[in-house]
Amino acid sequence: MAKERTLSIIKPDATRRNLTGKINARIEEAGLRIVAQKRLWLSRAQAEKFYEVHKERPFYNDLCNFMTSGPVVVQVLEGENAVAKYRDVMGATNPANAAQGTIRKDFAESIEANSVHGSDSPENAKIECAFFFSGIELVG
Ligand code: ADP
Ligand code: MG
Repeated sequence: MAKERTLSIIKPDATRRNLTGKINARIEEAGLRIVAQKRLWLSRAQAEKFYEVHKERPFYNDLCNFMTSGPVVVQVLEGENAVAKYRDVMGATNPANAAQGTIRKDFAESIEANSVHGSDSPENAKIECAFFFSGIELVG
C-alpha cells in the first residue's frame, strides 16, 4: 500500500501537561513516522480558519478559545494508511467513548480538551498539511 500522510496537532491541554514526548511515543510505536514537526501558538485568525468547517457548530467559539490558550505542536505523520491509523491511535472525540490504550482515553481532559487532532480523510489531510507546512519542510 502507498504511503500516506496525515496532519496531527498536539493540543494546548497536552503541551501544558508536558505530554508531547509521551504522545510522540504512541505515534511512533504505531509505526507512524513524524516527518515534520513544529511548536506554534496559534492566533485567533489561524484557529478560526483551521476549524472553519465547524463554524456553525455550537462549540466553535469555545474550541477556538481553547486552541489559542497555549502552544500546540503541529506535525505531519507518514505511513501506510496513516489517516485511519492515526484516528485509531487517537481514539474517539469524547474520551468517555475512547477505546482502552488510545491517546484520548489515557490523556484527554474532556470532549473539548482532548489532547490531539488528526485529519479525518486523505483529502482533508492534504489541505491540513499544506495549511501548516510548505513542501520544503517535508523531508520524508
Ligand atoms: P475530531 O477531533 O475527533 O475529528 P470533530 O472534528 O468532530 O472531532 O471536532 C473537532 C474538535 O472540536 C474536537 O476534537 C474537540 O476538541 C471539539 N469538539 C467536538 N465536539 C465537541 C463538543 N460536543 N463539545 C465541545 N467540543 C467539541
Ligand atoms: Mg475532526
